[in-house]
Parts: sequence; C-alpha cells; structure tokens
Amino acid sequence: MIIEPRIKGFICITAHPDGCAKNVRDSIDYIESQGKINLPKIKNVLVIGASTGYGLSSAITATFALKANVLGVAFEKNAQRGRTAGAGLYNLEEYQKQAQKNGLYLKNIIGDAFSNEVKAKVCETAKTDIGKFDMVIYSIAAPSRIDPNTNERYASVIKPIGKEYKSKGIDLNSYKIIETAAQPATDEEIENTKKVMGGEDLELWIDMLKKQDLLSDGAVVVSYSYIGPSVTHDIYLNGSIGMAKNHLKETSDRLSSDKNYNIKSYVSVNKAVVTQASSAIPTLPLYISILFKVMKEKNIHENCIEQAYRLFKKFASGENLTDENGFIRIDDWEMRDDVQCEVTDRWEKIDDGNINILSDLEGYKSDFLKLFGFGVDGVDYSKDVEIEVEETENLFFI
Ligand code: NAD
Repeated sequence: MIIEPRIKGFICITAHPDGCAKNVRDSIDYIESQGKINLPKIKNVLVIGASTGYGLSSAITATFALKANVLGVAFEKNAQRGRTAGAGLYNLEEYQKQAQKNGLYLKNIIGDAFSNEVKAKVCETAKTDIGKFDMVIYSIAAPSRIDPNTNERYASVIKPIGKEYKSKGIDLNSYKIIETAAQPATDEEIENTKKVMGGEDLELWIDMLKKQDLLSDGAVVVSYSYIGPSVTHDIYLNGSIGMAKNHLKETSDRLSSDKNYNIKSYVSVNKAVVTQASSAIPTLPLYISILFKVMKEKNIHENCIEQAYRLFKKFASGENLTDENGFIRIDDWEMRDDVQCEVTDRWEKIDDGNINILSDLEGYKSDFLKLFGFGVDGVDYSKDVEIEVEETENLFFI
C-alpha cells in the first residue's frame, strides 16, 4: 500500500517503515561521525521507553558510542489489517538490524513497562544473555498506567494547578495561532498524574533489579525531565506534570542515598524537542518553533540524538555532573539568557502574519512528520509498501 500521513490532533495514526528506518540510520550515522565514548564500566544498559524520542536516542548512543549491550522496553502497536504499526516498532526493527550487522547485542521487549510481567521478562532475559546492568535509562512518557499490584488504571493530565491556564499556542491542524486554555487539575488528577509519570514505577524497577541481583555496584540510573521557560511554567513545571516530575526527582534522590541499592540515580533535564510526548502539551509546539529558530540562528540547535550523545559525553568527561539542585542540565543551551531573551521577545510579537519569520514553524512541521517516518530525505513515498500484519500479542521481542 502507499502510506501517507494521517494526522489526528497531535498524533499521526500512520507511520512509514522506510522513513522510520532512514531516521534510525541517520541517528546511527551521527553517532559514528562523533566517535566512541569512553565509559568502560558501562557494559550493559537497560532503556525503559526505548522506541522513540529520548529513549531511542539514548539506546542508540549506548549501542554505537559505548558498544554496550542494550536491552530495551517499549510499548508499541503492531500492524493490523489496513493499518501500519506504530513508528516506534519500525524504529526498533531497523535499530535491531543495524546492531546485528555490527555484531552488537540488542534486544527489545515490547510490552507494558509498568507491568510485573515485563519486569520479570527483562530480568529473565538479562540473566540468560548479559548479566547485571551498569546503567538504567528511564524514559517513559505515558498517558496512563495500570498499577500492577491493584490493577487500577490511572490517567495523567497536563493541567495547571490552582488557576486556569491561558496562553498562545498553535493549532496543529491549521498551524494558526490560537489561544489555548486548560482548567486547573483536581487533587485527584494531580495524584493520578504522579502515579503515572512520577517515581513509583522507577522505584519498582530498581527494587526488582536489586532483588534479582541485576544491578552492578554503583550502577548509574538516569531519568528524564523538563524545566523550560516561564511561559510554560504554569502548564508544565508548576502544573500536574511538574508535580509528577518532582516526585520522580524525590524518588531518584532517595534511591541514590539508600545504601542498600548502591546506585547513583540522576534526573537529567533535557532540551525541548519535537516528540510524540511534547506535541501533546499545549503551548510547547509554539514555544519549540520559536526556540528552534533562535537556536538554529545561534548554531546551537540540537535534536534528541545530539542531546543523548552530549549527555553520555558528560558522564565520560569526569566533570561535575549536576547543578546546585542535583539535576544534570543538558537544557543549558536552551536556557541560556541570550536564547531566552530572544525567545521571549518573539513570543510577545508573534502572530499569524509573522510566524514564519519569527519562528521555525516549517522545521517544527517537518520534525513532527519525521517522527512517523514522513518527509525523510532519500525515501521513495510513491513506492508500494507491504505491511506485515501479525497477531498482536501484549508481549513480544524484537
Ligand atoms: P516519546 O513519546 O517519544 O517516548 C516515550 C517512550 O515511552 C516510547 O518509547 C514509548 O514506547 C514508551 N512507553 C510509553 N508507555 C509505555 C509503557 N506503558 N510501557 C513501555 N514503554 C512505554 O517521549 P519523549 O519526549 O522522548 O519523553 C521521554 C522522557 O523525556 C519523558 O520523561 C519526558 O518527560 C522527557 N523529556 C522530554 C522532552 C521533550 O521535549 N520531548 C524534554 C525534556 C524531557
């Protein structure tokens, strides 16, 4: 079939296998152009949320810059009759092919990382194949979570706290500037968001790995977060998702200081990039479009793979890793005063008439389509693509 993008709101419900494969090869080429990173103690890496965005980039960096053995976990839909698989599945298929070609160990478990079943599968696979993990990357962005102990489902929300949020934004269908508004989260919604995006699941993972003797002494754990500029604080940093991220940081700090675990757990604050997760946050697409233009003009723009490479380089540098609050900051270029001053100035002035001058809306659109394998250079989109339909299971390997 000929596959075209079918966009619904902030997601695209189709994905192009060849485009996704080319994106992955481009990321690997980037890593290979930058060279190996010397982290000899990191031999086995677990990446939770490995199929897209920051998780995929971290996994690719671990495989190709560290030559580490990587075990990934992701939640992706298989193809169904008349419907392509999720982009993440095509990403992982190509990543697997390239790792294999290079004789590097990679396995991906497709299933719900929040479940006991997937955690058990990871432990079983690690014991058989590679042994203890020296690094765990936690890069989940999920709309909901089933608590494995109670079977209760919790949904996360992206809402302000205590007051209504109103701001400029972009309509992702018409690409016109609109006013976005969100009502304040209830106490229950805040607690539910913490259940999904907070530290509870990270703790369950670390606990399980420790009990199964699958964490090496001094293993490094890294989770991801975002801080961003003041225009997004009410909806992100000080909103329901920000409360969940605080819980993640508190959990990470507690795990780090608990001598029983003997791990070093960090939260890395990353730059705003176009991913499936960030597209869902009101205001971010407009902010990102302006930010990209400013950062590109200053020659300091980075995408996920460039950020992931810089993060691993930071670990290898032996420099002080964290800021005064204990965060790793690879959003440092985004948050530079000169960048933020320029972004704020443009934020005030931007309207439908000047949007293409003040922001990189075209870059945003193109990055968004690329997430699903569309608009990728060198891919023939007029070619008939055969979509393999497989019986969907809730747990399988790639
Ligand atoms: P993404 O949507 O690209 O990736 C999310 C990943 O989580 C995917 O691999 C998906 O398969 C996996 N996942 C979701 N639910 C799962 C489940 N139940 N079981 C197993 N896997 C599951 O998102 P992203 O933007 O790369 O976000 C990853 C992390 O980075 C998040 O913590 C996010 O807050 C953080 N972050 C993102 C940005 C940004 O601008 N996108 C900036 C800073 C930090």
